[in-house]
Amino acid sequence: MNKAFYITTPIYYATARPHLGHAFTTVTADVIARYHRQKKEKVFLLTGTDEHGAKVAACAAQEKVEPQAFVDTMAAEYQAIWKTLDIKYDNFIRTTLPEHIAAVQELLRRVEKSGDIYKADYEGLYCVGCEKFLTEKDLVEGKCPDHKTSPKPVKEKNYFFKLSRYTAEIAKKIKSGELEISPKERANEVLGILDAGLSDFSLSREKLSWGIPLELDTKQTVYVWVDALINYLSGIGFPDENYKKYWPADVQVIGAEISKFHAIFWPALLLSAGVALPKKLFVHGLFTVNGEKMSKSRGNIIDPRALIKRYGVDATRFLLLSQFSAERHGNVAADLFDKQYNDTLANGFGNLLARVTKMLSQYEVKPDASHIDPVIAASVKEKSDAYHAHLEKFQLFEALQTTIALCQRLNQYVEEKKPWAIKKAGDEKSLQQVLSTLATGTQTLFELLIPFMPTKSAEALKGLQDGQVIALFPRIT
Ligand SMILES: [Zn+2]
Repeated sequence: MNKAFYITTPIYYATARPHLGHAFTTVTADVIARYHRQKKEKVFLLTGTDEHGAKVAACAAQEKVEPQAFVDTMAAEYQAIWKTLDIKYDNFIRTTLPEHIAAVQELLRRVEKSGDIYKADYEGLYCVGCEKFLTEKDLVEGKCPDHKTSPKPVKEKNYFFKLSRYTAEIAKKIKSGELEISPKERANEVLGILDAGLSDFSLSREKLSWGIPLELDTKQTVYVWVDALINYLSGIGFPDENYKKYWPADVQVIGAEISKFHAIFWPALLLSAGVALPKKLFVHGLFTVNGEKMSKSRGNIIDPRALIKRYGVDATRFLLLSQFSAERHGNVAADLFDKQYNDTLANGFGNLLARVTKMLSQYEVKPDASHIDPVIAASVKEKSDAYHAHLEKFQLFEALQTTIALCQRLNQYVEEKKPWAIKKAGDEKSLQQVLSTLATGTQTLFELLIPFMPTKSAEALKGLQDGQVIALFPRIT
């Protein structure tokens, strides 16, 4: 069976409208998916919404609508923004869909068959904002540090999952690379958590009706994280055996804030159910916006729609991914977007294209790829090779840096050679070589940019081919 390249984003919690963080993760996954499609691989990109849990129920109550109606609206919001941002997903999974519910119940049946579920009393402090139990040491002055609210004491009968049975095995698989966590820093953090020891976790809730009923005891609902994680299987048709056309996932893209769930809870559930582990987790860093943590209370949440309105779809995708290396924590300098747009897109990529197409048409030169400057050809190849090496490792920021460097090199070549002076001197042979070199280099540049900026790159390549002068990125004032 020819397995597809399977890539996932987290499913987003349907309590808040899409913001910059969601857009960052989803555009990252889309670029990787497009890159692999370009290589003629069969690709499957899954995204979706996480629609159960106490917080969803509370948000719906606040809006005075039924939870289902509430999540319907939210899912539509996510689908609309992904369409606008040119995200080409293959399925959008929603955890309230019957096929997802059936997949959750089947997976938990397998976990139970392995003897990994037991009933016990649970007493703890639950933060609804986090949808998890916090311990005393997680709290700051008695409050959840993320939500600044006091977690509620909860005492109820729960069904527990024997996580402790699998932690050693998971650590072994991470160390051996069988479950690859990239970058290394994030893998080490997970190994640290495993090393410190983990207790079993509760996979059901007693007093929460907005969830998937636990078959073992239908007065209970499945813990929202367990419910959500299983989307990666339900989204490709599990338990139908055809899910193996996609599974195991080639890469699951997540943010560092949810790595514990994905690198520990998720593999443990899969091991218990006898399902193969994903091959790789790519954990991108956390980021601040203009140097501050993004939060509702700070009022600095950026709606991707506002960026698209100002810069257009492709430039928004570019601006998001060219801020910092996703392998580290970083900052999105949104206050510098105008400057970066003008410097890199308008004066860089756009200007190069305009110059090259203008000279080709004005001097009536037909580019000939067999007569190009070997020095520039070597530089183009070197940058192009570096780009591919980065993309294979999901280093999107680094790949973009090589395209920026390539563009600078080509713009510099124009300055060095001064084709207008060559034309004036009447040296047609040199003019042919210089413009062929520029045309070929510029073509390579925009081919490399296709996964990042599909529409603009196609326009640029068409302009080059037809000898049409195009203003790709008009300057912003
Ligand atoms: Zn919290």
